[in-house]
Amino acid sequence: MLKLPPFNILRPRNRDELNAGITGCKDEFKFLGGGTDLINGMKKRLYPASVLISLKRVESLGSISYDENCDQLKIGATTTLTELAASPALTNAQPAIATAIASIAAPPIRNRATVGGNLCLDTRCYYYNQSQSWRKLAPVCYKCGGEVCNAAPGSKKCRAVFSADLPPLLITLQAEVTIAGGSKTKTIPLADFYTGSGVKPNILQQDEYLLGITLNHLKNRNSLYRKFRLRKALDFPLAGVALAFDDNHNRKFVNPIIVLNAVASSPLVLSEAARQLDGKKFNDTDAIQAAAEAAMAAAKPIANIGSKPFYRKKMIGMLFKKMAAELAAGQEA
Ligand SMILES: Cc1cc2nc3c(=O)[nH]c(=O)nc-3n(C[C@H](O)[C@H](O)[C@H](O)COP(=O)(O)OP(=O)(O)OC[C@H]3O[C@@H](n4cnc5c(N)ncnc54)[C@H](O)[C@@H]3O)c2cc1C
Ligand code: SF4
Repeated sequence: MLKLPPFNILRPRNRDELNAGITGCKDEFKFLGGGTDLINGMKKRLYPASVLISLKRVESLGSISYDENCDQLKIGATTTLTELAASPALTNAQPAIATAIASIAAPPIRNRATVGGNLCLDTRCYYYNQSQSWRKLAPVCYKCGGEVCNAAPGSKKCRAVFSADLPPLLITLQAEVTIAGGSKTKTIPLADFYTGSGVKPNILQQDEYLLGITLNHLKNRNSLYRKFRLRKALDFPLAGVALAFDDNHNRKFVNPIIVLNAVASSPLVLSEAARQLDGKKFNDTDAIQAAAEAAMAAAKPIANIGSKPFYRKKMIGMLFKKMAAELAAGQEA
């Protein structure tokens, strides 16, 4: 059994206490959401933090609010996945988000796991998500501060896999994310939050944290997310496809945005596949085939999570075509 290293925990109740805790912290720290991933990582000695700053009690970070007039949903970073999936505004306007959440881990984990933690989830790799004693058997790789990649020898960079299920779908809905650092805040498109680096997947500086996300014009878009995993009951994605397009009654893909999951170190926004699909009918098999091929060409999985890379690439095309077939048959959710 892996033991947790000793650590201190701060539990601020508001932003002032939180900012004071950050400023006063002289040791290496990590923010704690629900802890469903971070605590496992600490047991494996992946993070050297000796202080955890819990965000769970910070008032205002755990709220969901919907403005009917602007059709705008604001989701606090410590909202749990279970709470978000049960939000009436969301389930009415974008049922796909609840479907995506239902594919994450299992109910007891979703009851603790937060939206902020999902957006900030670390990238994954078979050679990285192991105990410290296991990792000592291989050369120290880029993600642990070394100069090699054990999964892809010869690679000039870490290619650990982006594995959070919510961000790709939220990016297709043009979500924005609000970041706080001290008393300052900034809001940016969620797509710009990710760096593409396997070592450091997002732009957050050590003292910055997520306040929440905003979704605008929820009712104007249709969205879907489909994921391939080995165990249907509980597993990280091995490939995923998120798609959103303007709500219209012509059964056409209008202004589609397509984002792939788990085939790169960040969510992969596809321009060519979206171009192939734009304005085409749900049952236009030639356009769907062309878009599926463009999606498969963009996916660059390597052998560092379960399942073979060529199969994950193939599954991208399959998931995509399955989605289109469901739309054509009016069976999407
Ligand atoms: C068995 C199992 C299966 C899983 N399956 C899936 C899956 O299928 N899909 C999936 O997406 N995830 C999966 N997960 C991972 C995890 O449970 C979820 O991603 C969850 O949403 C993480 O949220 P959390 O609040 O627990 O994050 P934590 O573990 O608390 O934190 C994760 C990271 O985010 C940082 N962080 C948290 N909140 C903030 C914030 N507000 N600002 C800045 N940084 C922050 C932490 O410092 C840490 O680096 C699984 C986990 C387990 C144990
Ligand atoms: S992809 Fe390579 S560098 Fe990155 S964690 Fe895996 S083995 Fe290490």
